[in-house]
Formats: sequence, C-alpha cells, structure tokens
Amino acid sequence: MHVVVLGGGSTGEHFVWALRRLDTESEITLVERRLVGGECSYWACLPTKTALRGPEIHADAERSFGAVTGAQLDAERVFAWRDWVAERDDASQVEWLASKNAALVRGDGVVDRPGVVRVGDRELPYDRLVVATGSSPAIPPIDGSTRSTTGRTGKRRRRRRSRSGSWCSGPARSAASWRSSSGASARR
Ligand SMILES: Cc1cc2nc3c(=O)[nH]c(=O)nc-3n(C[C@H](O)[C@H](O)[C@H](O)COP(=O)(O)OP(=O)(O)OC[C@H]3O[C@@H](n4cnc5c(N)ncnc54)[C@H](O)[C@@H]3O)c2cc1C
Repeated sequence: MHVVVLGGGSTGEHFVWALRRLDTESEITLVERRLVGGECSYWACLPTKTALRGPEIHADAERSFGAVTGAQLDAERVFAWRDWVAERDDASQVEWLASKNAALVRGDGVVDRPGVVRVGDRELPYDRLVVATGSSPAIPPIDGSTRSTTGRTGKRRRRRRSRSGSWCSGPARSAASWRSSSGASARR
C-alpha cells in the first residue's frame, strides 16, 4: 500500500503520525512545495505566539507587585525573536518525517490522473491519496484591501505579512499584544 499525502502542513504531518502509529507497513510519501510544517510553524501559530511572548512577560513583570522591576520592552527584539522563529528552516521536521519512515518529495504536487500524483517530471503512483493542502483566505472586494494574505511568494512578502499575522487574526493578535504590553490587562 502506498499512501501519498499532498501537503506537509500540520494536518499532513499529523496524518503521517497517526497512520504510522497504526500501520508500520505502508509506504508513505509526503509531497510539500515549501516547508514541512506548513503555515502554523512558519507563518501563523508559532510566529504570532512568539510575538506575544515578550509583551506577556513584560506585562507579568508589571503586575508582580514590585517583585520584578525595571523590565523594558524592546519592540525591535520582539520582532527579531518572531522573525527568528518564522525564518528557521524545516530540517528538524524533515528529520522527524524520516523517523516515521515517511519519504519527502519537495515540489508542487498535481493529481495527474486517478492513482497518480505528479511532482515535476516525477510520477508517484498511489493506492490512497490524502489531500492536506490547507486553505487560502478569500479577499472581499473592498477598496484598498490589496495586501497579500498568504505570504506565498518569498521572504520579503512573508516578513511583511507575518509582522501583523494575517488578514484577520493579525490585527486581533496585535490588539491583544498591545493591550497586554500597555498594562491594560494588569488587573485581572
Ligand atoms: C496568524 C495565525 C495564527 C494562528 N494560530 C493558531 C494557533 O495558535 N493554534 C492553532 O491551532 N491554529 C492556529 N492557526 C491556524 C493554523 O495555522 C492552521 O489551522 C493550520 O496551519 C492549517 O494546517 P494545514 O496543514 O491544514 O494547512 P497548511 O499549514 O497551509 O499546510 C498545507 C501545506 O500544503 C502545501 N501545499 C499546498 N498545495 C500543495 C501542492 N499542490 N503540492 C505540494 N504542497 C502543497 C503548502 O505548501 C502547505 O505547506 C493560526 C493561523 C493564523 C493565520
């Protein structure tokens, strides 16, 4: 049995993990065109949680009843920390995949015909196909809403987008971050 998983984001990874726990025999091939780990690791969950961490620590210090004093929040370092998380390579996730005895094929996967995924010139026949290609937000036709939401095309755009998270959750996260760092949530 050959299982091809199209898309190596958290859904694809978890599928590989779950299948491997039940089935040690089947051949598994994961096809990923960018980074194994997908949006959550490099563009969404982890970078945004990292961006919040500095303000959270700062806010905790502010409400420590004087037990911790002199804490300074450095916005440049907050974003540098976030960028460090967002920019790392996927070597550890590739290693994890190998430890699950799953092969990785890098590139754009296309279902060429029933039973075959093609990645460039390479054909991957499958018995079972798992589509875990994630999703893209729809952009309403509102004047001025021309910004990229998915960060699909390279480092500069990725940086710019991840600076505020994403179209919807970015502002919400930034607001939470500001609220926390400005001490607005100091009295719970
Ligand atoms: C700012 C932000 C913060 C978030 N925070 C959290 C959080 O704290 N907790 C939480 O649970 N969720 C969070 N989410 C949601 C979470 O990021 C997504 O639910 C999750 O990443 C979806 O995973 P996925 O594998 O379905 O999709 P993706 O991560 O998008 O993975 C799909 C993968 O498929 C690949 N792919 C697509 N098409 C092809 C193809 N044809 N060939 C090869 N590869 C292909 C893509 O390159 C991608 O890597 C957050 C989202 C955002 C935007």
